Amino acid sequence: MKNIKDYNLEELKQEMQEIGEKPFRAEQIFKWIYQEKVKTFDEMTNLSLELRKKLEEKYTLCNYNIQRKQESKDGTIKYLFDVLDGNAIETVLMRYHHGNSICVSSQIGCKMGCKFCASTGINFIRSLTSGEIVEQIIAVEQDTGEKISNVVFMGIGEPFDNYDNVVNAIKIINHPKGLNIGARHISISTSGLVPKIYQLAEENIQCTLSISLHATDNEKRSSMMPVNDAYPIEELMKACKDYIKKTNRRISFEYALAKDNNDNLEDAKQLVKLLKGMLCHVNLIPINKIENGKYDKSSNENIMKFRDYLNDHGIVATIRRELGSDIDAACGQLRRKELRD
Ligand code: SF4
Repeated sequence: MKNIKDYNLEELKQEMQEIGEKPFRAEQIFKWIYQEKVKTFDEMTNLSLELRKKLEEKYTLCNYNIQRKQESKDGTIKYLFDVLDGNAIETVLMRYHHGNSICVSSQIGCKMGCKFCASTGINFIRSLTSGEIVEQIIAVEQDTGEKISNVVFMGIGEPFDNYDNVVNAIKIINHPKGLNIGARHISISTSGLVPKIYQLAEENIQCTLSISLHATDNEKRSSMMPVNDAYPIEELMKACKDYIKKTNRRISFEYALAKDNNDNLEDAKQLVKLLKGMLCHVNLIPINKIENGKYDKSSNENIMKFRDYLNDHGIVATIRRELGSDIDAACGQLRRKELRD
């Protein structure tokens, strides 16, 4: 059965025509799904009974069941949702003073194998459809009754390894008749799939691009992120510069600090050299120790020295606030043991 949330508005208009309905029905359905957040076709009361029955027979609304919900002392909530085929995905709600932010997964498992990430080793099962990505936001809004104002693609999976579905999900999330979340409040984080950075630069989407950088030389970066063997730093930087030139958008570079690995002042110096003159921001992430992981967290003193060095040398850098680490919901902690094989 088709998931009706997989369609963006234009596609749903076409789909309605294909089943013999007027295109404006798509707008009505969109309103029920994304603004009223109904869970059944039966609740779409301005559609005829006959149409509601037809929709019921042809489509699913892909509602998720909450398999587990853990709430942190700081208000962060980690959800484990059952998707319809018996697999499960994780989604995290973070509460900031500027609004609610949601970290969505884009795949079930991940192929990238970053060494500092607890998702490493999760058997890659499949990519999520656009509707399955969007449903994470709807399900959290339904559960909490709170509005989500920011979406980050930083959960399990490499978003650019599921490019088409992620871009389509963004169209639904961003559309004024969809979830109506501004593109500037949507971030996609990639481990560095270079061809997709060039592709995103051509799309007319004003979202924020985040690059997981974590090291400034190929040897170190490859030891942390095998994707660097395929797309080394020089190629990655070339693609980033092209992206900035075409979009005039600032890139956010993620840099996870691991003790005695990439957190000394020489690393900071190299980072300044690499990013000098680029329209960018550096997001420093105190690495979260994972079970059997080889990296330890940097000391607070080192993290602050690293940040100050960057700021003093013309690179805007901030330290990411840690949320949800007591429930393993912090960055890089979404993990295998929570998921069904
Ligand atoms: S950091 Fe992201 S891309 Fe790397 S293994 Fe983890 S989920 Fe995959």
